[in-house]
Amino acid sequence: MSGTTLLKESGPREVFCGLTSIVWLHRRMPDAFFLVVGSRTCAHLIQSAAGVMIFAEPRFGTAILEEKDLAGLADAHEELTRVVRDLLQRRPEIRTLFLVGSCPSEVIKLDLARVAEQLNKAYEGQVRVLNYSGSGIETTFTQGEDGALSALVPLMPTSQPQESQLLIVGTLANSVEDRLKTLFNRIGISKVSSLPPRKSSDLPSIGPGTKVLLAQPYLSNTAKALKDRGAEILLAPFPLGIEGSRLWMQEASKAFNIDKGIVDSTLEPLIARATKALEAYKSALSGKRLFLLPESQLEIPLARFLHRECGMEIVEVGTPYLNREMMKAELDLLPPNIRVVEGQHVEKQLDRVNAEKPDLVVCGMGLANPLEAKGVSTKWSIELVFSPIHGIDQAADLAELFARPLYRQQLLEHKVLAHT
Ligand code: SF4
Repeated sequence: MSGTTLLKESGPREVFCGLTSIVWLHRRMPDAFFLVVGSRTCAHLIQSAAGVMIFAEPRFGTAILEEKDLAGLADAHEELTRVVRDLLQRRPEIRTLFLVGSCPSEVIKLDLARVAEQLNKAYEGQVRVLNYSGSGIETTFTQGEDGALSALVPLMPTSQPQESQLLIVGTLANSVEDRLKTLFNRIGISKVSSLPPRKSSDLPSIGPGTKVLLAQPYLSNTAKALKDRGAEILLAPFPLGIEGSRLWMQEASKAFNIDKGIVDSTLEPLIARATKALEAYKSALSGKRLFLLPESQLEIPLARFLHRECGMEIVEVGTPYLNREMMKAELDLLPPNIRVVEGQHVEKQLDRVNAEKPDLVVCGMGLANPLEAKGVSTKWSIELVFSPIHGIDQAADLAELFARPLYRQQLLEHKVLAHT
């Protein structure tokens, strides 16, 4: 793997939990409901992350379970069933109900899979009930999406063996997804589906003719579940920046035996436009030193883009979890001897940040303020999952997200404070 130094670290972590992914998943599938089975802390997190919807009925909620001993478990199951019954009576439009586990000990004791099974029997034909964990003990925030999508895979209908299709996996902004589908159609891949779909009840089919292209790097369990259903997983760099997006689309085209010349001529004008747009941010980013702390699993593709296309110098790349097979194409594009650290010992990592004095740190929201107070520019990694950053057309917008905090820092440095 091109001389990359892969290290592992464990210790205290400072990341959002998997419940956070409900914020983008509930927007993606408006006919689904995410019921967090958790504590008041979970309810606060999800409310403040997603905002309170004043004009619309929310599509997420929390069933708050108070402390119970093991003898109270039967009551907890009953209580949860009652909450679900009330919810489905009030909201008959719900087609898929996700029961999302969390980390309080009273929730860990619950068998959510069994509750989901019982509810499925009771509501057969009306609503499908699934479960997954968003617990902060087991997941970082993007892994919540991996859990939700893996739970959907067994419900996907089986396609005919000869049915050939491309399946894009991972939530994308709708406009970006439409654009990518149009491009794939233009180069000759006619059937392109997505997981998650825009309606939870409209799941794409899956089978041996399905070729899976991952749009997000944090979907290892979903990829495995799709492979187990007979699909072929295409391994490519992720569609961030011009280079990653081009290689991503080329990999799909190769799998469909499409002539490389057709792909090149389709992408050429896009690449020319994006290269020009990127120039505006290169001068701000080039030569600046970047440290990525682990949180989203987007860190490696981002480091590759910011180094190769924007000229940034990489100090360290942290990632909460590293799937070497899925990440190989990305690691091969990183500069030699770069330090990639899987896992987190937040104190040691912050010591390294202090020692290295990078120009920009990509990190979770909890670490950003203390670093900013020390004069270090930061970029919240969570912002990247809410921004349309995928594809060649978005390369300049992606670069701008990193240039902005550097401009801000420059302004602050040159600001003359008026004394009275
Ligand atoms: S799941 Fe755990 S980490 Fe997440 S909000 Fe609930 S208690 Fe906190």
